[in-house]
Amino acid sequence: MAVETSAIAVNLARVRERIARAAEHAGRDPAEITLVAVSKTFPAAAIREAYAAGVRHFGENRVQEWEAKHPLVADLAATWHLVGHLQTNKARRAARLFHTVDSLDSWKLAQKLDAAVAELAASGPRREVVLPVLIEVRLAPEETKHGVEPEELPALAEAVLGLRHLELRGLMCIPPLLVDPEQVRPYFRRLRTLRDDLQQRLGRPLPELSMGMSHDFEVAIQEGATQVRLGTAIFGARAS
Ligand SMILES: *Cc1c(COP(=O)(O)O)cnc(C)c1O
Repeated sequence: MAVETSAIAVNLARVRERIARAAEHAGRDPAEITLVAVSKTFPAAAIREAYAAGVRHFGENRVQEWEAKHPLVADLAATWHLVGHLQTNKARRAARLFHTVDSLDSWKLAQKLDAAVAELAASGPRREVVLPVLIEVRLAPEETKHGVEPEELPALAEAVLGLRHLELRGLMCIPPLLVDPEQVRPYFRRLRTLRDDLQQRLGRPLPELSMGMSHDFEVAIQEGATQVRLGTAIFGARAS
């Protein structure tokens, strides 16, 4: 899908302004909020344009798609996030291709990723020997497929802390797509509360809250998001 250079740059300027305004309204420093540009379905050229306009974090949701695009942008000094559900049989490929997995949703996957990173670390020079991860929490079981149930979160988090090659950085959620962003606020608030409780329980900081997409990121920022994942607002509508 062709996207005008100027369109992406213009969209980014607008989004950054909205992030700054939402942060200021919430009494937060806009610099605390990382913009993750979700480039799924868009070509490598779109990633380059966003990079040229200053974006340094990108999110993709499919290993296969990213395997095709990554070689075309591997020269960029960006952080590549996996934000979609990962099948355990693709853990090794994902560990090689992404700097962070923001959608960890099972103990089995955690173990596979840990083993994959250990293998990479043993087999040669790799960027890091630790893979940062966020646990995806399923806050609306009736609407979203993936993520751990809130009741399962403490046990999974404790188990992940025991893995040498994963670093638990925080939580992520994909709330239901509701027309009015205000309706999504309770989900964001819930994720933050879960994070706060978990920090207490584990006795260690979990600084990251990845929440908020194109239609609701301002509300997410008011509720404490440290990463917003924006696709449409930057790249335009995706072909379905
Ligand atoms: C596609 C996607 C996004 C971006 O969605 P937009 O509504 O286009 O901003 C964010 N997070 C995840 C996990 C996604 O799959």
